Amino acid sequence: MAPTQNKDYYGTLGVKKTATTDEIRKAFRKLARKYHPDVNPGDRKAEEKFKEISEANDVLSEEKKRKVYDQFGFYSDNIDAAAAEAAARGGYGPMSGSGRSGAGRAAAGRGGQEVPFDFSGFDFSGFQGGPGARQETPTGGGGFRDIFGSMFGGGRGGAKQGAEPGTDLEYTVQVDFWTLIRGGVTKLEIQRRETCKTCGGSGARGGIAECPECHGTGEVTQMGGRMKFNIQCPRCGGAGKVQNACPACEGSGVLQRKEPLEFRIKAGTRDGQRIRLAGRGNAGSHGGAAGDLYLVIKGGTNPVFTRKGDDIHVTVPVTIAEAALGAKIDVPTIDTHEGGGRTLLKVPPGVQTGQRLRLREKGVPSAVTEGLRGDQIVEVKVMVPKVQDERSKEILRELAKLNPEDPRESLFAGI
Ligand SMILES: [Zn+2]
Ligand SMILES: [Zn+2]
Repeated sequence: MAPTQNKDYYGTLGVKKTATTDEIRKAFRKLARKYHPDVNPGDRKAEEKFKEISEANDVLSEEKKRKVYDQFGFYSDNIDAAAAEAAARGGYGPMSGSGRSGAGRAAAGRGGQEVPFDFSGFDFSGFQGGPGARQETPTGGGGFRDIFGSMFGGGRGGAKQGAEPGTDLEYTVQVDFWTLIRGGVTKLEIQRRETCKTCGGSGARGGIAECPECHGTGEVTQMGGRMKFNIQCPRCGGAGKVQNACPACEGSGVLQRKEPLEFRIKAGTRDGQRIRLAGRGNAGSHGGAAGDLYLVIKGGTNPVFTRKGDDIHVTVPVTIAEAALGAKIDVPTIDTHEGGGRTLLKVPPGVQTGQRLRLREKGVPSAVTEGLRGDQIVEVKVMVPKVQDERSKEILRELAKLNPEDPRESLFAGI
């Protein structure tokens, strides 16, 4: 593994050594937008650059880490800021020889000052203090991943992800009047997240590759003054392996797709009804269960029939003769739609406008209870003839004489 030289974090971010934390963060965000792997898919140089700026930001944006870095030219969790300050004040004696031993006091070789941090028991293989104490998000890598998540709303690019269930979807479906009554097939196109077929939802491109940063060793070497440190590889977190992200879904395991959907409408389905199609919502990520798909039915209207639940309402005009004498008249029902006969309705003598007559079980078949059917409600509307000829007028005057009752009598009596 190639030893990495002391890193110029300030130069990496393009800021002055006197830059404020705000200026550092701003500079980082600007660069991150440019070099983010999502913006530069497959570009190793950009990826490298992104990692560098992430690391620089991780150290410089935190006051304590920055103090250590300013003093020693590198950063380690094992050096505390107080020691760095003490060293900066020059409160320690001259450097004692090589000071390279793994135990006891060691020098970090800067200006001939001995730095008081104890290397005894310090496992140089990783800053986290050995494999037992290794964390999911190591130094450097942690910053990388945290930034990843907060800036771009997803932990892709090697960050570990658990299975997450898919979300539910809801679509409003326009279904015409007759299809709701008789049932039928309705088609629509939905947009849903589905499991990526290329990687089967794992987000990985098939297998695990050797980490290109540490070449499988899990460590990289960093120079700290005259000292060499083996630190945990920030790219693979010390594992020595990285997962290849699936090129189709960029590691997310799911893809947004338009999908034609055909589903059967049950006869008698009502306007406003919510139909649940289990497991047809958005696919879960990394093996999580899919959400459900809800279809909200928006029923169409008809110029003659009005549907109220399972009942059908229709207004039927009758002549004054039919209304006065009673009659058997043909009325349309929803069954006539199929070219079947009309239904005969018996209009009682003396029927008035607005009066409702019920045709039992001529309504909509229930979608809930097999064999049940709503009624048809016929509202009578008496039509007055436009009398033109003298003979008709004569007959009506005669009729009025024979029936002298005042229809407004009760109106005045009720005041
Ligand atoms: Zn590595
Ligand atoms: Zn995929």
